Amino acid sequence: MTRANLPVDGARLWADLMELAAITEPGRPYTRRSFTPLFLEGRDWLAGRFRAAGLAVRMDTGGNLFGRLEGSDPEAGTILIGSHSDTVPSGGRFDGTAGVLTALEIVRSLRGSGIRLRHAVEVVDFLAEEPSEYGLSCIGSRVMAGLMKPEMLDYREPGGERLGDAMNRVGADTARLAEAMRSDVAAFFELHIEQGIVLEGQGIDLGIVTAIAGIARAEIRFAGRADHAGSTPMHLRRDASLAAARLVLLVNEEAKRNAAASRGHFVATVGVLEQHPNAANVIPGDARLVVDIRAEDHALAQDFLAMLEAGSRAIAEDSMVARSGWTVLSNTTPAACDAALRGLLAEGARRLGFSYLDLASGAGHDAAFVARFAPSSMIFVPCREGRSHCPEEWAEPDAIAAGAAAIYEAVLRFDAEHRKPS
Ligand SMILES: [Zn+2]
Repeated sequence: MTRANLPVDGARLWADLMELAAITEPGRPYTRRSFTPLFLEGRDWLAGRFRAAGLAVRMDTGGNLFGRLEGSDPEAGTILIGSHSDTVPSGGRFDGTAGVLTALEIVRSLRGSGIRLRHAVEVVDFLAEEPSEYGLSCIGSRVMAGLMKPEMLDYREPGGERLGDAMNRVGADTARLAEAMRSDVAAFFELHIEQGIVLEGQGIDLGIVTAIAGIARAEIRFAGRADHAGSTPMHLRRDASLAAARLVLLVNEEAKRNAAASRGHFVATVGVLEQHPNAANVIPGDARLVVDIRAEDHALAQDFLAMLEAGSRAIAEDSMVARSGWTVLSNTTPAACDAALRGLLAEGARRLGFSYLDLASGAGHDAAFVARFAPSSMIFVPCREGRSHCPEEWAEPDAIAAGAAAIYEAVLRFDAEHRKPS
C-alpha cells in the first residue's frame, strides 16, 4: 500500500471515527443502538460535524440523516455517499461509521481543495441498518427504496413500542414515508469494513463489491416422540434430533457443492438448532432448525430451498419422524453493484497505487436497498482477522484512508463523465 499524497486526510477521518466511537454505553463498548438516547447523541455529534464542514443538514421522512453540499448544476442530480451509525450490542468502532465518516471526509476534502462538482454531494447516515429490537434491519434505506410495508411499522420491540412510533420519535414522519423516495440519486458509494478475511488473507488493499448476496431463510421442524432414553430400544425410537443432525449434514454438503459451482458467492448455515425437551435422559421429541442461505445467484438459492424442502421431507420419513413445519422466513434477491461505478472505483484504486479485487458481500448492507432505485456501489476495506460485530473489530487507519481516497477519485471521475441521473 502506498500512502503518499492521498486526496483525503486519513488522520482527520480517523480522529472522527474515534470520537464517534467514544459515544457508547460505558459498560458495553461499543454500543450505540438505533432508537436509543445514545444513538441520538451520536447523530447530534454527526450533524454538528456536517455543519462544521459547511453542509446543509436535514432528515428525511424515513429518519435518514443527510449533510448536503450543492453542486453547480441543479439538474445534475445527487451523488450519495454513506452508511449507518447504529451498532449491534457490543459492536465495533468501524462497522457503518467508517462509511459515514468517509463520506464526510470526502466532502470536506472536496471543499478544502476548492473543487466544486456539478452534482450535489450528500453524506447519508441511514436509519437503523443493524437488526433492531423491532425485528427489522436497513430501515432507512428500505424506506428510501419504497420497500417499507405498512405492516412493518406495526412490528413491536419487547417493551411494546411500535416501530412506526420509534421512527417518529427519532425524527421520521411515517405518515409521509413516500416523500423519502428519491429519483435524483445519480450514484451511491458505500465504504464498509469487509467483515471477512479475504482481503487480509491475500494482502489486498481494497475489495470492489460485485453484488450483495440475497438472503433466504427457512425454518424446519421435526416431530418425533419424547420417550425414556433408558428403556426405549434403538429400533423403536422416533428421535427428532437424528433428523435434525442429518439435515445439518445435508445443508453443509450441498452448500459446499454450490460454493464450488462457480456461480458466485454461496454459503448456507444452520444457525438455529433446538431440540426438546433437551434433557439427558429423554429422547428428543421435537427439533427446530433455521437455515440461512446467502447467494449471489438467486436461482441457485431457489434451487437450494427446493432441495431443502424435498430433502427435509425425505429425512423425516427415513428417520421415522414427521416433518411438522416448513416455513420460508425470508427470501430476498441479490443486489448487483453498478458495473460503471465498479469500474470507476477500480480506476481510482489503480491510479492511487492500491491493489484491489472483486468480491461479493455475504452480509447485507444499505447499498442493497439503494441498488433498487439508483446505481449503487461498495468498497470493502480489510479488517483484522475478519472480526466484526465485536469490540475487537479493527481496521487500520491507512486501510480506511485508502478506501476513502478511491471513492474520492471515483466521485470526481463520475462527476466529470455524467450529466444527469438515468
Ligand atoms: Zn454495517
